Parts: sequence; C-alpha cells; structure tokens
Amino acid sequence: MSLTSIGAPALAPAAIDEHLRRRIAGQLAGQFKGDIIGPDHDRYPAARRVWNSMVDRRPGLILRCTSTEDVVAAVTAARANGLPPAVRCGGHSVSGKAMSDGGLTIDLSGLREVSVDTERKLVHAGGGCLLGTIDAATAQHGLIVPAGIMSETGVAGLALGGGIGWFSRKHGLTCDQFVSLELVLASGEVIEVSADSRPDLFWALKGGGGNFGIVTRFTFRAYDFGPLMRIGVSLYQPEDAADALRGYASVVPTLPRTVGWHAALKHDMPALPFVPPELVGQRLLMFISMWLDDADDPAGAEMIERLAAVGQPCVTAMTVMPFAAGVQRVIDEEFEDGHRYYTKEAHVADLADEAVDTLVDFWKDMPMEGEVEIIGLGGAIGDVPEDAAAFSNRGYLLWLNFAMKWDDQAHDADYIDRTRKIVADLKPWTGQGIYVNMLNFDEMDRVVEAFGGPEKYARLGRVKAQYDPENLFRMNYNVTPAPAEPAAP
Ligand SMILES: Cc1cc2nc3c(=O)[nH]c(=O)nc-3n(C[C@H](O)[C@H](O)[C@H](O)COP(=O)(O)OP(=O)(O)OC[C@H]3O[C@@H](n4cnc5c(N)ncnc54)[C@H](O)[C@@H]3O)c2cc1C
Repeated sequence: MSLTSIGAPALAPAAIDEHLRRRIAGQLAGQFKGDIIGPDHDRYPAARRVWNSMVDRRPGLILRCTSTEDVVAAVTAARANGLPPAVRCGGHSVSGKAMSDGGLTIDLSGLREVSVDTERKLVHAGGGCLLGTIDAATAQHGLIVPAGIMSETGVAGLALGGGIGWFSRKHGLTCDQFVSLELVLASGEVIEVSADSRPDLFWALKGGGGNFGIVTRFTFRAYDFGPLMRIGVSLYQPEDAADALRGYASVVPTLPRTVGWHAALKHDMPALPFVPPELVGQRLLMFISMWLDDADDPAGAEMIERLAAVGQPCVTAMTVMPFAAGVQRVIDEEFEDGHRYYTKEAHVADLADEAVDTLVDFWKDMPMEGEVEIIGLGGAIGDVPEDAAAFSNRGYLLWLNFAMKWDDQAHDADYIDRTRKIVADLKPWTGQGIYVNMLNFDEMDRVVEAFGGPEKYARLGRVKAQYDPENLFRMNYNVTPAPAEPAAP
C-alpha cells in the first residue's frame, strides 16, 4: 500500500507529458533562474522524495525556485497550463501534500535566506526555510522565533497551519508571531500582507494553510532567549508508566508558562546522551521538561528537578544545552526522512485515569516504532481569541500525537488500523477539532472541522474567493472559494 493509491487527492492534477514539459520550459525561458527538474534530471530522485516514504509520487515536473521572481514565473506557468501545483517547503506534510503525482511541484528549497533585525527583534525568513535555518541565524543574536520541536520541518507548512513547539506556552503559536508576509497570488501578483494592509487575508494566513498563495518571505516577531536552555528528563519502565502519567496529568495544569513539559511513550529508547547503555532500545516512557527562561535562573533548576521526581523514574537527568544546535536536533535522527510513517493527532479533553490505562495498554504491545506523544500546551496559545485567527481550538492544554514508524511495506494496513483503533478507543477523553498540520490522508472529511467548523470555513472561503477564485492552490487541505453572493435585486 502506498499513499499514491490510498491517499490520491480528490482533485487530481493533469499529468505532464514530455510535450507539456517542453512547452513549460519554453515559457519559462529567460524568466526562471532555478532548476527545471523533469524525470530525466539527475536531481529528480532526491527532489521528489519527502519525509514519509509511503508517499511515493512521481511529479511530471519540479520547478525549484531561487527567488520571488522564480515563484511568480512558476505560478504563471501553472495557471497558463491549468496545473494546480503542489507546493514544497520542508516536505514534512504527513500526507505528502508537498508532492504532486504526475503534475507540477513548486519547490521552495532555494528560498532559505534569513536576516535578523536585532534592534526591532524581527526575523525575515525565506518561504523555503527549515526551522533549523532560522534557529541557527537567530541563536547568534540570543533570539528565538517560537516554532516546532525539530530542525528539519519546513517553516512555511508549519507556520501557515499554526505552529506549535517548545515555546508555545510562553509566546503562543508561530502564526501568532507574523508581522507581515510576502505572498505570490494565483494571478502572479506579489503583495505584502499585514494586519493593517489586508486584515482579512492576514487573518486567513494565520492557520488557513497554503490556500491563498505562496509565501516567499515571512517576517516574524522574535524574543530574547538563550542561546542555552535548561532541560530535564526522566525515564520510566512500562510497569511504572501509568502511575507517572497520572502524576503528569495532575501537575501539568498547575505549571507556570515558563516551563514546557511533555511525555513520550517510546517503542525503543534511542541512544540519547542521558540514556544508560543498558536502557538503549528498551520500551520506556520519557518525560522531558524545558525551562523557557534564563538557563541560570535557580527557579528553573528547582522546577526541572521537581518535575523529574514525579512517579518512580529509573533515570533522571538535568542539563543545559544550546537550543538551536542541541535541543532542536535531539529527535532529528529518530524522525528522519525515508521511513514509513503514519501519524494521528487528537486534542485531549481529560487525561483521566482510564484514558491513561487505555493508552499504556496500547503502548505496552505496540509493534510500531516511533512514539506516542503527550504535548503540554495551553498558556499563551489561549490568549488569542478564537475568532482572531483562522487557527482553531486553542483551549486545549494537552495534545496527543501518535507518531508511528516502520520500514516494511507489508505492515502498512495492520499498523495503520491499530493506530486508528487506539484513537477511536480514546474518543471518550478527546476533544473537538484536529490540528490541520497533522491531518492525514484518511481524514479529508475533517478539513472543515480542522479549520474551526462551518462558520470559520465559510469566512476562509470568502477570502479564498477574493485571492484565488479559480482554486489554483488546491493541492492542500483545501478551502474552496465561496460562491459569489447573489446580486441585490
Ligand atoms: C517529523 C515531523 C515533526 C513535526 N513537528 C511539528 C512541530 O513541532 N510543530 C508543529 O506545529 N508541527 C509539526 N509537524 C507538522 C508540520 O507542521 C506539518 O507537517 C507541516 O505541513 C510541515 O511543513 P513543511 O513546510 O515541512 O511541509 P511541506 O510538506 O513542504 O508543505 C506542506 C503544505 O504547506 C504548504 N506550503 C509549503 N510551503 C509553502 C509556502 N511557502 N507558501 C504557501 N504554502 C506552502 C503547501 O500547501 C503544502 O501542501 C511535524 C511534522 C513532522 C513530519
């Protein structure tokens, strides 16, 4: 089974044959400075690869852009030839939205410039940046842009869908940090979008995904931090996991915003620096806590020690490490590109004792590699009113993410079914909505729900109708353009 077959998009793009490829190359001549990558190009195998190896798609053409002008030329060619493009930044879309099957992919990996305005604490980042590119640039100035939890996720997909991570409790989502965005519209026009210039579109870009155009440059608000971060870890044997998770559930609601605390039920513990050799490869629960303030603050050390002592850990550790070069790279290898992955997200309404038992029972026998994550959020995310941005369901303190991994294709159906079943079993304790950035190929019927329900979806549809009336950008979690209002009699 591959996502090409099980996740075929509802609106499949036209296939590009040799004749069309040549025609597009002719149209781009003199205007496009990036790489034009067809199936015979030596960069094609690498350029069509995305994070999830179940997504095995063969685009007819990949246009690897290096500038806003390249993106304009690529979008113009897409429109002229009736080719709704897939748009690729980091390629981390869990359902492989970044890669077209037979059609056109616009690849932004040539737009990775980052500049930091230290005086105004603003960060300008190209629309193809990975989080690691941004973190490396901001770390030099003791700044951070709140984003995700590893270095290889693309900033564009992440931020346009919301963006959660270590700093969310303190500063909110990545999209909450937008100051302005340079956007290439379906018409080929390049516009700058901010709260003042185009409030409706700015609202829609904060969580509405890639529906409205291609972002070629983000300007984010940044915050003083680091470069060092204090972190703590505790590990638990399976027989102690339920008790530890009950402790976690009771402590999380009491925590200040200066700490993030997350749990990972791991199938096999990787050889991280604090893991004794005899525990590497073991099924273990891990708690990880992060002090989101000054690493030297004694209150941070005290808090991290307190959290590491919850339950009966078999190992505890506390350390201070560089945020960008250290913390952000801890799980890069564990979730590297090229394995078969299936993920499912659910917001937790109540991590009740029975929910903990159901989860731990599943995990104890889980044959899939990877982990079940309980992500502690809340805090500043909920400071923004629900109607102030497209991003929805801000009120949840805990999010669940099943990040399942394997390599043998023969396991696909069984492992996907097991993951679906546990999420269904947990239904009594999960809430409404779903994170649009974690929607999988089998959840396309939940797009309206992910965008906050019919009312918000309709508002997004009206913005879409204004900026992309032909729905050129539809190879995504799609917002369809709202029908035109009937003329007044
Ligand atoms: C290993 C892993 C870790 C993750 N960690 C986190 C995390 O910590 N926090 C979090 O919030 N999410 C996380 N996610 C989810 C992540 O936010 C989404 O998968 C997101 O879509 C990834 O963005 P990308 O640019 O890498 O994706 P891509 O696959 O490149 O693109 C995804 C979609 O974004 C749109 N898009 C891409 N670039 C642009 C652009 N420049 N302009 C307009 N639209 C564009 C396109 O519509 C495309 O369909 C993670 C996912 C994975 C696989």
